[in-house]
Amino acid sequence: MLLRHTPKEIKEREALTINPAKTCQPVGAMYAALGIHNCLPHSHGSQGCCAYHRSALTRHYKEPVMASTSSFTEGASVFGGQANLLEAITNIFTIYNPDVIAVHTTCLSEVIGDDIPQIISKAKNEGKIPEGKYVIHCNTPSFIGSHVTGFSNMVKGMVTYFSESTGTKKDQINIIPGWVEPSDMREIKRLAAEMGINIILFPDTSDILDAPLTGKHQFYPKGGVTVDRLKTTGDSIGTIALGAFASLAAAEALDVKCKVKHDLLEIPYGLLATDRFINTLRQMAGVAVPESIDLERGRLLDVISDMQNYFYGKRVALFGDPDQLIGLSEFLVSLNMRPVYVITGTPGKLFEERMAEVLKEIPEAKFKQAADMFLLHQWIKNEPVDLLIGNTYGKYIARDEDIPFIRFGFPILDRIGHSYFPNVGYTGALRLVEKILNALMDRQDRDSKEECFELVM
Ligand code: SF4
Repeated sequence: MLLRHTPKEIKEREALTINPAKTCQPVGAMYAALGIHNCLPHSHGSQGCCAYHRSALTRHYKEPVMASTSSFTEGASVFGGQANLLEAITNIFTIYNPDVIAVHTTCLSEVIGDDIPQIISKAKNEGKIPEGKYVIHCNTPSFIGSHVTGFSNMVKGMVTYFSESTGTKKDQINIIPGWVEPSDMREIKRLAAEMGINIILFPDTSDILDAPLTGKHQFYPKGGVTVDRLKTTGDSIGTIALGAFASLAAAEALDVKCKVKHDLLEIPYGLLATDRFINTLRQMAGVAVPESIDLERGRLLDVISDMQNYFYGKRVALFGDPDQLIGLSEFLVSLNMRPVYVITGTPGKLFEERMAEVLKEIPEAKFKQAADMFLLHQWIKNEPVDLLIGNTYGKYIARDEDIPFIRFGFPILDRIGHSYFPNVGYTGALRLVEKILNALMDRQDRDSKEECFELVM
């Protein structure tokens, strides 16, 4: 009972967060930057920040995450980090030779007020950035927002630095996938290819954070969107932004900069969100949906209808990132489950507005943005649930309250699979259904009395 001190009685708190359901902005910026081909993320701050961000990503993806740091010490903390960053840029291009250095700030450099665009332009003027190489940046003050904000800021930075409009449209669609797994990015590309649509997915961490073991170390794995392709995003027919929190800022920036219209959709988790995604792709590209995708959809429908009695009425608690929770909650409602408690640590009123729509048929549902896992635990203590869904940090609540637990979201530190098997699309939904059923049926098997223990359930 590690969380035995969590009381049932709920008191209003304003200035205290206990067990936050988020992590810091640069983690997201680093993850997004890894989705550019030949890119080295750079943390403008102290070594400790960079070590934490790298380890958070390495533990989740089980891959070595490369990043450099401005290595602030006392001097930089007082006088600013310009000298450190200029030296870092020279060293990085000389030693590690990336195409792009993607700089994100940290709490310390934000408090000092380092002007990164000015430092980058000084580096350019002093010839520290070789021809054909780039240094981009985004601000990631971690005392506001969350890792999702940092991800969004870095993706917007890609548009700010790279997107160009030549005035001639190309037969291609931009997809900004939001914070999803490399497996999900691979699945989005597969679905688009199946429909014969040319897409530019950015960022794209597939073949970077799910790279195969080949016996050869590749400092920069082969995946990621290239700078040349990023530049052409300004000539695309349109942009599909998946998730308001992680993707909308970049899509809007592209619209303003290059007049590329965008559609905002939810991450395609489950049947309805995937239907909307496929339909938007179809309309934007002017193509028909191939039979192969119809069949995938049909298989998902078949499993849902075969097993719907196991889902019916089950109370679920969820926590994690807002874009993911909105899509996932909608899927659970469509399965006739009851997502009764949903919290995200990421601030943003939009989350509560959208959740109010998604959960309108569930009057007992409670949801909250900028909330913590302590509150979620208290809600569960007062009225238990049948299933808990969230990242690895949920295992303490699941253990103490004896609730079946499905790992979903970021970070997952104690299981594998998330990098390799998608959750998006009809195939991903099938996997989610399998995981939910396994969790519920394993519990039914465990708790059945001898006389009720059934071979066929
Ligand atoms: S100091 Fe700020 S940027 Fe660094 S690890 Fe802590 S929260 Fe993140």
